[in-house]
Amino acid sequence: MKAMTYVEQGKFALLDKEKPVLQDPKDAIVRVTMSSICTSDLHIKHGSVPRAVPGITVGHEMVGVVEQTGSEVRSVRPGDRVTVNVETFCGSCFFCRHGYVNNCTDPNGGWALGCRIDGGQAEYVRVPYADQGLNRIPDGVTDQQALFVGDILATGFWAARISEIQPGDTVLIIGAGPTGICTLLCAALRQPGRILVCEKDAARRRFVQEHYPQVLVCTPETCESFVREHSDHGGADVVLEAAGGADTFTLAWRCARPNAVVTIVALYEEAQTLPLPQMYGKNLTFKTGGVDGCDCGEILSLIEQGRIDTTPLITHRFPLSEIEEAYRIFENRLDGVIKIAVTAE
Ligand SMILES: [Zn+2]
Ligand SMILES: [Zn+2]
Repeated sequence: MKAMTYVEQGKFALLDKEKPVLQDPKDAIVRVTMSSICTSDLHIKHGSVPRAVPGITVGHEMVGVVEQTGSEVRSVRPGDRVTVNVETFCGSCFFCRHGYVNNCTDPNGGWALGCRIDGGQAEYVRVPYADQGLNRIPDGVTDQQALFVGDILATGFWAARISEIQPGDTVLIIGAGPTGICTLLCAALRQPGRILVCEKDAARRRFVQEHYPQVLVCTPETCESFVREHSDHGGADVVLEAAGGADTFTLAWRCARPNAVVTIVALYEEAQTLPLPQMYGKNLTFKTGGVDGCDCGEILSLIEQGRIDTTPLITHRFPLSEIEEAYRIFENRLDGVIKIAVTAE
């Protein structure tokens, strides 16, 4: 089968590989019908994910059809359409039992697919702990609608869930990339009074204004004064930082009102400074990533009810045979790309 492979630092290639086989009674083999490319894939390519294993098939955002299940798999059967969770988790360790599945203590726990074990930018993928890693897609939900459930939408849902958003709150989201927009969609479900979005890229600001006209949009330069002007208590009640830029952590806590919750969704490439003397008396609560991706069933039912729709994020489509071209466009942010759907032949 064809599989997009991490060859070495700086090089991915579409190679021919053996189709995966069951290795454990809890495994399932999924025929991938649609996958996507994530910024984390580029982090692997650029060598900034040290635990990524050269030779593995990349890709951790995908949907497909269950082809085969191990003898201990209970929740899905061959023929089921499923989302695949970016995180592998056992469901029974201390962290899993508390919903902190990102810190599952299994050797493959956390982000393994497409990083430490073969992922889904391929024709087939082996999913360990299939009862936890797969969710059935409701009949009325298409592959496109479900494509982001296991990764960026799970991230946005988790971020909104832990941020203690109250009805009427002013919520600031920094960054309107794919994860920022998923965060926006999930924050909006919690009836905030206002959502403000700060984004430096003009095309992305236009995208937000066009698709979510109720959201107020600003630039990083004007963000602090804009937030003060559009909030009731001198700053945002909740800040979700999804940009991961050089100054966006500082911007996040500066835009928060006293006693606000500041949730860090972004993954930074550099260490950030927590200037406690300047913050003293602001009494902020910080929450940090990564995602505990255990809400996929609930997210799928919200999609089925028409309450979450991420299909506008899919700006481009390529068959798997042309995935190298898809990477070129995604990596260089050409042609207004936000997300790419990679389809089976
Ligand atoms: Zn990702
Ligand atoms: Zn676990």
